[in-house]
Amino acid sequence: MPDRHIYGFISRLLESIDIAFCLFDAEDRAVMWNDAFLRFFPEHAGHVHYGEPYRENLRRFYEARLSNEERCYIERYIDEGVARHRAQSRPFVFTHRGRRLQVASMPTPGGERARVWQQLQVTAHAPKADGWDAFPIDLLDHIADGAMVLDQADRIIATNAEFRLLYDVPEGRSVIGSTLADVVRAAWEKAGEQDRWSDGFVQDNLNFAGAPFEVELPGGRWRRVIARRSASGIGYFTHSDLTELKRQQAALKRALDELSAIAATDGLTGLANWRRFDAAIKAEWERSARLGTPVALLVIDLDHFKSVNDRFGHAAGDECLRRLAAATTQAVKRSAGLAARTGGEEFAILLPDAGNAESLAVAEEIAQIVRMEAWTEVHPELHALTVSMGICAVRDTTAVSIQDAMGRADAALYRAKNQGRNRIEVDGA
Ligand code: GH3
Ligand code: MG
Ligand code: MG
Repeated sequence: MPDRHIYGFISRLLESIDIAFCLFDAEDRAVMWNDAFLRFFPEHAGHVHYGEPYRENLRRFYEARLSNEERCYIERYIDEGVARHRAQSRPFVFTHRGRRLQVASMPTPGGERARVWQQLQVTAHAPKADGWDAFPIDLLDHIADGAMVLDQADRIIATNAEFRLLYDVPEGRSVIGSTLADVVRAAWEKAGEQDRWSDGFVQDNLNFAGAPFEVELPGGRWRRVIARRSASGIGYFTHSDLTELKRQQAALKRALDELSAIAATDGLTGLANWRRFDAAIKAEWERSARLGTPVALLVIDLDHFKSVNDRFGHAAGDECLRRLAAATTQAVKRSAGLAARTGGEEFAILLPDAGNAESLAVAEEIAQIVRMEAWTEVHPELHALTVSMGICAVRDTTAVSIQDAMGRADAALYRAKNQGRNRIEVDGA
């Protein structure tokens, strides 16, 4: 973070006029805060630390403010809070430990996120629904979206017809005096699905006035809610139908998931391809370094495969590759191993937590399946097919590079070929 000293300066400057400041890095970890931040959020004093994920920060925040009945929703509140943190573009207002706080947040040019809070002065003894009389109530029906007005206690004072449509409010039923949570709960009850509805969530979002949020209704329907509060605490809300957008987002996500599965899969055999295998090795190398666990690589190459193609044709050769792929899948079933087709007639297996003995067991199982395979089904004159294999087990991945380990497994395979094929060779043995 090149601008650290600038942010340190801004942090102290804001402190001098009682504005809390916290800076988060690109991975949402807290990296800087001032004393006003700890005054407004005393639950963080002595706990927040450099690099703390925002999620943990939020957990403490919610643990300090949730009642026992609400505590069961904490995971959902935290998820919502992280989403608010990432998406926030406008200031919003909430109450914390008796303070009315307005919070603004913006991404920095360097890719971090800065967050500032100021305390708002609350008008003392604001009469209930003060300021509401001045609002032209019939204006609500000229708004195309659903509209709702709440008093200071979050009870509905007015809605328009579109709101009633959006939330399935039955003809003739009044929602005046209810909360939005009551209205949404009634929609779920009407659909006979009340158990899928969690009450606290709407109320929690109302506590952060100005931050848009989404409400799910039965039948995969979604509403987007945006609020504004007047100084006296009256809340003006709009509700719009988000269902189509959500449906498109879900379809897009499914298509992307499918595409990335295709991009990671070998078309002929259905095994992982080199791209996926490469990513898995890198991840495994890191995990092993962190946990101090071993990892092994097993490479497999069909013997005299060129002559199989030459004698029986490419289609028969392809079928042999599919059968060998099935053998590797079978052999890694019991371990967390990943089998991949890494080249034309070359396969590799990544075996987490495995040493020489475990790798040899997998290799021998493959040799056994290949021996038992009914190759004559592929071609009546194909009586046998064999494979050569090389193993390299790495005890400490901080000491051996991926390239080194792959090279050693290949060298072991090369030895197996040179020593007559149809055998398994182990690196270093
Ligand atoms: P060795 O025992 O030394 O491995 O001999 P080999 O004939 O298997 O080795 P070589 O590397 O010379 O030949 C590999 C052959 O694999 C060449 C090619 O015809 C075949 N091959 C590669 N990819 C495919 C494929 O996708 N389908 C088919 N049918 N054959 C393939
Ligand atoms: Mg080869
Ligand atoms: Mg070969």
